[in-house]
Amino acid sequence: MMPIYIIGHKVLRQTGADIDKDYPDLQGLIERMFETMYESDGVGLAAQQVGIPIKLFVIDATPYADEFPEAEDFKRVFINAKIVEYLGDDTVLNEGCLSIPGVREDVVRKDKVHIQYYDQNFEYHDEIIEGLPARVLQHEYDHTYGILFTDRLSQLRKTMLRNRLRAVARGKFRASYPVRLGDKNTVDRYIFPQVPVAK
Ligand SMILES: [Zn+2]
Repeated sequence: MMPIYIIGHKVLRQTGADIDKDYPDLQGLIERMFETMYESDGVGLAAQQVGIPIKLFVIDATPYADEFPEAEDFKRVFINAKIVEYLGDDTVLNEGCLSIPGVREDVVRKDKVHIQYYDQNFEYHDEIIEGLPARVLQHEYDHTYGILFTDRLSQLRKTMLRNRLRAVARGKFRASYPVRLGDKNTVDRYIFPQVPVAK
């Protein structure tokens, strides 16, 4: 399995490059990302989280299917994804992230998105996705633009979390999976973004 890059690492702040079907060993990378995601009990994983700044993320929302029926069999690969429009209502759900171990916070997101993307076979899709899959998708999509869920919290919550995130960035957490930390001289620079997060 691939190590998971932790908040404070520069790569998590990099907007992914678009890729094409000739990207080296793309199918192998997708396979390793799914394996890494399953081994670390995640429901989504973006390439940034394994240290590769490209527009690729994988999702398997099946573990949520008991609570959210629409998550049943929602296993997909998203390449060069572009959210065209955020739709529906604001919903709140407690989120975590493999790149921010031990931290969970309520995050407000829309419950529906219009998205265009390519799948692992480079078939083009133009779809409306709703409910829990739309939430997981927005979280992973954000990663491919260098955005973390902590960026979407209120200024007050960010301030309250700052020291905790500084500790996480320095390796003060327990995780059941291999990790890679950022350069300890620069981690603080990458905990919160330098520019406001676009909606
Ligand atoms: Zn995440």
